[in-house]
Amino acid sequence: MKPLGPIPAGFAARDGVLTIDGAKVTELIAQSGGATPLFVYSGAMLRARVADLRAAMPDRLAIHYAMKANPFAPLLRLMSGLVDGFDIASGGELGMALEAGLDPERISFAGPGKRDMELQAAIMRGVTLNLESEGEAERALKIAERIGKTPRLAIRVNPDFGLAGSGMKMGGGAKPFGVDAERVPELARRIVGAGADWRGFHIFAGSQSLYTDAIIETQAQTIKLAARLAEEAGVGLPHCNLGGGMGIPYFPGDTSVDAPRVGEALAREFEQMPDVLAETQFCIELGRYLVGEAGVYLTRIVDRKISHGEVYLVTDGGLHHQLAASGNFGTVVRRNYPVAIATKFGAESGEEASIVGCLCTPLDRLADKAGFPHADVGDLVAVFCAGAYGASASPSAFLGQGPAREMLI
Ligand SMILES: *Cc1c(COP(=O)(O)O)cnc(C)c1O
Repeated sequence: MKPLGPIPAGFAARDGVLTIDGAKVTELIAQSGGATPLFVYSGAMLRARVADLRAAMPDRLAIHYAMKANPFAPLLRLMSGLVDGFDIASGGELGMALEAGLDPERISFAGPGKRDMELQAAIMRGVTLNLESEGEAERALKIAERIGKTPRLAIRVNPDFGLAGSGMKMGGGAKPFGVDAERVPELARRIVGAGADWRGFHIFAGSQSLYTDAIIETQAQTIKLAARLAEEAGVGLPHCNLGGGMGIPYFPGDTSVDAPRVGEALAREFEQMPDVLAETQFCIELGRYLVGEAGVYLTRIVDRKISHGEVYLVTDGGLHHQLAASGNFGTVVRRNYPVAIATKFGAESGEEASIVGCLCTPLDRLADKAGFPHADVGDLVAVFCAGAYGASASPSAFLGQGPAREMLI
């Protein structure tokens, strides 16, 4: 039998049925029209997560939401009242952010391969561009001149280090992201000299780390690097985006990042800031840490079958909505997410079963050979940690299946 990932805190059962914010998932499915699969996002959990993080972090640190984790419009509207800014990574996300009523001045735009139309749309609106290369800087300056706007420009720095233990390294060595640290001072002088609205640095070393000490160490290195580059460039640093990196537990044995300890270390850094950073505004940008654990994916069992003595529970959902849970989104070894039978929540495990999706590929597996209470056709399966990189990061068009429903409660 293989273990399952840890179910995030805050979920309960009533009459054996999983509840989210006190509502039975069966009622939530009925409310949303009766169909599965359905993503449910808990507004209460989102609010609590941001509030806890704020309490843990020094006041000087602004908190930004990286919306690629979950761009569901009602969730964006809720988040816009909770966080200080948004990080987007495409012109499409800019459109979604504006439609959700976000203030463009609170948006920064990172990501390689920004097309001229995207740069123009961002500059028109006063969005900060986190420039990924010298070439992108020149294109932005030219477009700004043509449309008669002062562009708000920051440099994304490719740091000389990565975030240890991070699932996705975004810095250290050759990378498509950011400008290599040693070339940053020259580019900063060029941007300031061109008369742009100079915004500072964006330094993102990695994602999905659960190692509190590694996150603390990386933030300290990031601040040191920002100070060194600003000094070398001889420019001020109005803003410094420290990146993110705080992960969430998905797999057996994973434990949460100790946010209060990260906050205490950052407060100490802020107390001994070098002069060049004395006036700098700092932020972190987080995706999954803010929204991942607040989401649950609900799918219904449509078949129960036995093959060579093994039990398969076949659902109406799958990797087309849950690429990450199926193990096909940036994982080397497939391990089980937190998954449960939502209509027998909390019941003892009585058998070993694999929960699979409805796609005709062996990759479509939501849980592999794990212990579950006996479940049958009609029972509901809950995949936890579904609030980030679920609906929008999965190939919903695959096999003509189409998107899942989503609801924010
Ligand atoms: C993806 C991304 C994030 C968010 O990563 P999480 O692991 O979801 O926190 C933040 N910043 C940038 C630049 C990103 O590309």
